[in-house]
Amino acid sequence: MEVAEAAEPMPALATADATARVPAIAATAVAVAVMEAAVATERWDGLLQGATLATLDAANGYGQIENGALAWKDGVLAYVGARADLPGDADTLANELFECAGLVTPGLVDCHTHAVFAGNRAHEFEMRLQGATYEDIARAGGGILSTVRAVRGASEADLFDASAPRVAALLRDGVTTLEIKSGYGLDFDNERKMLRVARQLGKHFGIDVRTTYLAAHALPPEFSGDADGYIDAAIGWLPRLHAEGLVDAVDAFCEGIGFSPAQTRRMFNAARALGLPVKLHADQLSDLGGAALASGYGGLSADHIEHTSEAGVMAMRDAGTVAVLLPGAFHVLRETRLPPLDLLRAHAVPMAVASDCNPGTSPLLSLRHAMQLACTHFRLTPEEALRGATTHGARALGLQDRGVLRVGLRADFVHWRVRQPAELCYWLGGGLADGVYAGGVQRA
Ligand SMILES: [Zn+2]
Repeated sequence: MEVAEAAEPMPALATADATARVPAIAATAVAVAVMEAAVATERWDGLLQGATLATLDAANGYGQIENGALAWKDGVLAYVGARADLPGDADTLANELFECAGLVTPGLVDCHTHAVFAGNRAHEFEMRLQGATYEDIARAGGGILSTVRAVRGASEADLFDASAPRVAALLRDGVTTLEIKSGYGLDFDNERKMLRVARQLGKHFGIDVRTTYLAAHALPPEFSGDADGYIDAAIGWLPRLHAEGLVDAVDAFCEGIGFSPAQTRRMFNAARALGLPVKLHADQLSDLGGAALASGYGGLSADHIEHTSEAGVMAMRDAGTVAVLLPGAFHVLRETRLPPLDLLRAHAVPMAVASDCNPGTSPLLSLRHAMQLACTHFRLTPEEALRGATTHGARALGLQDRGVLRVGLRADFVHWRVRQPAELCYWLGGGLADGVYAGGVQRA
């Protein structure tokens, strides 16, 4: 792509597939166009034209527009449509004009990550390859608790420095909205530290980070044998963290090796008392009725759900709860039990796809790669996977102002070096994003 009439060159957008500058036109036509533009748009901040748009602004299909144009002003999309239908000459319509081939999609929304942590668990990866299971490792005091030790031992600055490269990697592959959970601190100060770092990462990278309080992730050693006592303590920390503006939602790990449905309900009641939405790690390793439990609280999402029953799927449908599919953990753990995809489709439950970026079961640094895994393992179509990582990912975070390319929504979009939407799920790795924009500002 070549920048025409741009105030500043944007090197990341300079590619070999550039087309020519917009040809000069007659002065009178320019004057007319300028007047029209002044009336219609008061000059947009930016206008990108020539690419194929996958707007997803349609009930089915990609909402594809060939030779499209996309404009933004003050961080919001101001034009989405065919280049031929622009209300005047492109040169006069915007302060910056980008001529490009390739594909433009909404910015990707990664609605389930544990991207803030210290250390890593590569040694457990080796143990698993020697035969240990996830549950073996957890019961032996490894797993989540080894990351808890590393997080507790890290200063806030160290935790930021350890986590920033992961967020940078997700951003480089198209993520403009990122959910990050706490859950490796498991006491007030360390849960707070994690949530503060998550907020700082959003500011640092200029993307929207949504924070989720996941103190009910694992039982810390100081509460060994007293899960109810721990839940009481974690419920007590929540109002203070919420008062500091650190909590957007509340989550729990409802599982035999996590917390019981009754303990999960107590945490959710505390969230509801504060007006906070809930989501749940549900039915990953066994069916404890987690999806139905989350739906009973009007949950934003039920996540994993490999073991969810049809009753659980129907509860999700009735509550409008999104099914968040996490194929990274499925892949790494070499699980065989698939989420109930046919039931989700039959009951029209929206399906999101997320990276689940975490040190134990899904050290995955690309949401686009998660989309690929969702197609390979779960047989999602590339269209379902793209919608899952945009429109439905946004819905799983309770966000209605993004996830689709539509005038009036946030100017979060990605310019990819591919021509067809299916290529986003077809290529494994490789870094396909040419420009990643959040709120109309290029961030990668
Ligand atoms: Zn998770």
